[in-house]
Amino acid sequence: MRRTWTEISFADLPIREDLRLHQAYGAPQLDVPVRLNVNENPYPPSQGLVASIAEAIAEAGANANRYPDRDFTKLRTCLATYLTHDTGVYLDASQVWAGNGSNEVLQQILQVFGGPGRLALTFTPAYPMYDEYCRTTFTRLHSLPRTESFAIDLPQTIDAIQSLQPSVIFLTSPNNPTGTALPIEDIQAILDVAPGIVVVDEAYGEFRRDGVASAVTLLPCNPRLVVSRTMSKAFKFAGGRVGYCACAAPIIEAIKLVRLPYHLSVFTQAAACAALAARDEMLSQVATLKAERDATVSWLRQQGLQVADSDANFVMFGRFNDRHLIWNKLLRSGILVREIGPSGYLRVSIGTTAEMVAFRDALSTAMHTG
Ligand SMILES: *Cc1c(COP(=O)(O)O)cnc(C)c1O
Repeated sequence: MRRTWTEISFADLPIREDLRLHQAYGAPQLDVPVRLNVNENPYPPSQGLVASIAEAIAEAGANANRYPDRDFTKLRTCLATYLTHDTGVYLDASQVWAGNGSNEVLQQILQVFGGPGRLALTFTPAYPMYDEYCRTTFTRLHSLPRTESFAIDLPQTIDAIQSLQPSVIFLTSPNNPTGTALPIEDIQAILDVAPGIVVVDEAYGEFRRDGVASAVTLLPCNPRLVVSRTMSKAFKFAGGRVGYCACAAPIIEAIKLVRLPYHLSVFTQAAACAALAARDEMLSQVATLKAERDATVSWLRQQGLQVADSDANFVMFGRFNDRHLIWNKLLRSGILVREIGPSGYLRVSIGTTAEMVAFRDALSTAMHTG
């Protein structure tokens, strides 16, 4: 008997066998007063900046009958200037690429350099999306565990690279969900033996502590290195959906083989350029957030909790016998954190000062009541 579109269910669909058993990825989006679960910057743009973004979008709208610049040269130039400012390394537009979030860029990298018969190497606990890109691109995934202190075990890693010959290696620094940054010497040692592409995911790069170098400084001497960044975290532009990477220009020529045509709209390009022009405002709360993070780490340790060192805008802490219970108690106090990481741990994003007061009060109560 033929059924209508309201009568068929998910299970009836001819879905790819390897996808059938999975669930769509995503943190709960709950409407609670204090949202500290997806590492956003808690400070909204100023009225002045909202107005300049609106003006840039209106101008772009005047040409919205035409497709956008497929190679978004203006945006790439703005991003290159920004990266040069942040890292001191000179880059031009040919060495920068962007997508709808760095998620899109990272998936493009696996589409070009991974694929059937190829292997990607990651380090757990890792950003869960790496698994998804591998699955989507039919790339085999191998994960090595991080050490007790969430560092990468360098001798073990070098052995694994030599025996597995991964096509792509994902190094996340600072790492999500742990917050730990990698020593630049370890990244170089991995580059020295890697046969393929090495991606250093620096989504939280702007929050690194003083003296922690960006892998962008390694780009000139390491032609197979890709450093990915995003406007979603420190740059407080998560809603704009712009992520990017820096690498040798030929790698970008390769990425163009898989990008969908015109993947960045005129509106995205215009809004991102307007935000990048207001760089100082966009980054003006980074120092406050770093100080709040360091205070949060100290406070959590004073409560007797185990806390990973953090170079990011979040902190992973535990261990709880029943982390879901604590997560739930916090939620009932109006505070949303993330249930992620090794068992017994939770992750809290750094919010405003008032939000962190609320978090500390609620966590104390949650830990000391039955
Ligand atoms: C948040 C995050 C990203 C990217 O997010 P986009 O919003 O897609 O740019 C990439 N890597 C890590 C480790 C992240 O935590």
